[in-house]
Amino acid sequence: MKQHNKRKEQQFGLCGQQKDMKKFLKEFKQFAVRGNVMDMAVGVVIGSAFTAIVTSLVNDIISPLVGLLVKTDFKDLVIQVGNVAIAYGSFLNAVVNFLIVALVLFCIIRAINRMHEIGHKGKEEPAPAETKICPYCQSEISVKATRCPHCTSQLE
Ligand SMILES: [Zn+2]
Repeated sequence: MKQHNKRKEQQFGLCGQQKDMKKFLKEFKQFAVRGNVMDMAVGVVIGSAFTAIVTSLVNDIISPLVGLLVKTDFKDLVIQVGNVAIAYGSFLNAVVNFLIVALVLFCIIRAINRMHEIGHKGKEEPAPAETKICPYCQSEISVKATRCPHCTSQLE
């Protein structure tokens, strides 16, 4: 009899574990397919692709063009302090690079916002009214009606 009870307990224990596992998997599924996780994944992927575009635009096109006009490579600027080399030129390069990236990004965002505005302006034209309110019974009726279908009043 004692042994039987023990076996039963074991069975219950197993059942509990399976239930926990199921709950765990269910929670994991909810977490993984939750809308904002997917949105975030898309955002990260698009973001890194966008980064590649901006980096290439800056490194391959803008920076060489700027380099034609002014010397923008300060790599050689180094101060020797004792045995330590302070490569402040590299730091300047990083700053200039950041400014160019920020400027390019600003121009791209501005262009995108402009396009947004143009797209919205086209849509925001109000549709011509198809209904009016009868001044006698306040019902909504066709704008072309000369007589109200609700209260039969003559309209101008
Ligand atoms: Zn009416």
